[in-house]
Amino acid sequence: MSLLGDSSRDWRRTRLVGPVMGMTFAGLALLVLLSIFLVQRFDIVAAEREQVLVEQGFERQIEELDAVVATQVDWDDAITALDHKFDPEWADFNVGNYLYTFNGFTHSYVLDRDERPIYAAVRGERAPLSSFARFEGAARRMVPLIRQAELWRGTILPRPGKNNIVIPPIQRNAIVSIGGQTYIVSATLVQPDFGKVLPKGPRAPIVIAAKPIDAGMLKSFSRRYLLDNLLLLGPTAQPAGRSVIELRDMDGAVVATLSWVPRQPGTYLLQKLQWPLLGGIAVLAILALLVIRRGRAIVNELIASETRSRHLAYHDQLTQLPNRALLFETLRALLAARFGDGNRLAVICVDFDRFKDVNDTLGHHAGDELIQTVAGRLRESCGDAELIARLGGDEFVVLLEFAEEEQVHDLCRRILAAVSERIDSEFGWLEVGCSLGVAVIDHAGVEPTEALRWADVAMYRSKEGGRQRVTFFEPEMDDALSARRLLEADLRSALGDGSLGMVYQPQVDRTGRVTAAEALLRWNHPVRGAIPPGIFVPLAEETGLIMALGEFVLRQVFSETAQWVGLRVGINVSAVQIRSHGFAALVTRLAAQAGADPSRYEIELTETALLGDDPITAANVEALKRLGFSIALDDFGTGYTSLAVLQRYSVNRIKIDRSFVCALDESGEGEALVDAMVKLARSLNLGVIAEGVETEAQRKRLMACGCREFQGYLTGMPQRADAIAALAGLAAAEPVRKVRKRG
Ligand code: C2E
Ligand code: MG
Ligand code: MG
Repeated sequence: MSLLGDSSRDWRRTRLVGPVMGMTFAGLALLVLLSIFLVQRFDIVAAEREQVLVEQGFERQIEELDAVVATQVDWDDAITALDHKFDPEWADFNVGNYLYTFNGFTHSYVLDRDERPIYAAVRGERAPLSSFARFEGAARRMVPLIRQAELWRGTILPRPGKNNIVIPPIQRNAIVSIGGQTYIVSATLVQPDFGKVLPKGPRAPIVIAAKPIDAGMLKSFSRRYLLDNLLLLGPTAQPAGRSVIELRDMDGAVVATLSWVPRQPGTYLLQKLQWPLLGGIAVLAILALLVIRRGRAIVNELIASETRSRHLAYHDQLTQLPNRALLFETLRALLAARFGDGNRLAVICVDFDRFKDVNDTLGHHAGDELIQTVAGRLRESCGDAELIARLGGDEFVVLLEFAEEEQVHDLCRRILAAVSERIDSEFGWLEVGCSLGVAVIDHAGVEPTEALRWADVAMYRSKEGGRQRVTFFEPEMDDALSARRLLEADLRSALGDGSLGMVYQPQVDRTGRVTAAEALLRWNHPVRGAIPPGIFVPLAEETGLIMALGEFVLRQVFSETAQWVGLRVGINVSAVQIRSHGFAALVTRLAAQAGADPSRYEIELTETALLGDDPITAANVEALKRLGFSIALDDFGTGYTSLAVLQRYSVNRIKIDRSFVCALDESGEGEALVDAMVKLARSLNLGVIAEGVETEAQRKRLMACGCREFQGYLTGMPQRADAIAALAGLAAAEPVRKVRKRG
């Protein structure tokens, strides 16, 4: 199951690099757009300013023309020559010819006080008065305004002693279009300047002068205002990409337009700087690409390291299988899915059998190799499973979605076969089996912990039922488990509440003399009454409580029996205890504290405790023996003890298991077995005692086999320490009798 699929990785890469790329390119595009915008704005502002300048310049041009006419007409001589008595020669020289030659006025006219033309000149030459008809229309609009101003000015009075009378010129101008030609027409009232001569009457003549807007004028105007390609166009012209100003007549109607190519300083600048600018943008683009490339590399590294750490977080390092965290995530997702169409989920708990033996006898490296090999096999043979996870140690979980129950059975068979197949390792042949527990989930709403617990409970049933088997979870099993849990809690509190105590079962010689006693633990449960050690000792071993329980036993036994004289005491020690570091030291310390003599104590170990060659066990046994404790092999015959084990640990005594004693009643075979055991013990120079002797017949047969020591209900029930002490004192006098029934 991939935690971070390719498409998800690509998506994340895009999500992380995308904004950087986007921002970089957006930044570049923004820069280009901003430049274009600025250039355009620059051009527009420049064009607007230029337009205002040209408009004002054209107005100035008209004012200058007015001023030219005014210098000729605002003059005492003009009053004399045009008003007092019309002098055509004077008019030729000072009006018609002068205005044309020096200022380009092609048409000049003089109107008398009644607005009748009395003089006409065209291009500096006197012309027929009828030529005034062309400008009559324009004159008729301007003349009444001049007369109005003349009226407001009033009569000019002589001012003696003054050089001039300083009367502002009375003028009007207009732009007119006549016969396809546009003119600037100026109308000026004849007035005195020094006032030496004054107009004859209240109305003076008026001079009309017209100057065409022609190529010459355009040329000088455009030179003055630095205009490009200045043209005079028709009133409706709207040339693209050119600036225009409209020329209006006195009624406000557009008679022509002046048009020119606007100055574009921004565009000009852009053209001048285009290569440096393009170079700058290219450098920025290259930098952006480098940033993006670097960004991509960093993002790739980030994603890779995240993928690695996610893999580490979700996988077991030894087998590379999914671990507990991924199992929970997957299980949660599968349990949240719909269970429709008969689809169900099997949670299969796999626990190796006898894995600890491999670890203990061959070391952790062998255990690791075994786990790795089996994990590989599980991967190969469980291809149809949703997930194979290692929970830790020798515990695995397999998840399977299925429709037919046979699919689960089939998968379980494959798992059993994969685990139990022998492994040829560098440590020799390795062999384990496994116990399976299956929880079948067919409805939603089950919590992952619950589902796993059910599979675990079923797996323990497989273990109890003889291992290498499959158990499907049933709700009743959960009840049993709960009961076990309660019992465990009770046992924990029993360690301090006085409900635990020791009894001692006498061991007698053939004469019936009590030579020893085996310490046996008793638990008197406040509610459930006496609970046999066969129930709570294995529970304590599984839960780890055995260490505390074992210490309790040692303290109790040493303190109750330290004062006994000449009576050996057997103490049962669990395999878990003897395999723990410092156990021998603990025993020694407790014995010393109680003042007990080690040589009077016999440590009873079962055959399984001595299986394999666990170095801690060996060290503990050796230390105990060195200090004077003797070792008995309990329940002899039920395990796998080899002669080598008996020798390696220099066991002092074997205790023939009760099952063999029972068998004595049934067949001759039993007798042969007991006989062989006694002989074996003799040949190895070991003591031998028979356990569970209940009848005199059994005792006799044991005697016949050469057994000289006995323990059982026949020779003595387990009793309190004081009762045993008394019994031992009597033992020499008379054989021990049954004291009370086992309770
Ligand atoms: P074990 O060490 O083999 O102890 C002998 C068991 O046989 C005792 O059962 C004893 O009461 C019983 N027994 C003795 N004579 C007869 C007989 O004639 N007939 C029958 N049917 N039974 C007889 P108990 O006390 O129930 O202990 C069972 C096992 O619990 C012990 O087997 C021992 O393995 C374990 N155990 C008891 N006390 C302790 C302890 O203090 N520490 C540890 N680690 N294990 C203990
Ligand atoms: Mg025992
Ligand atoms: Mg026994």
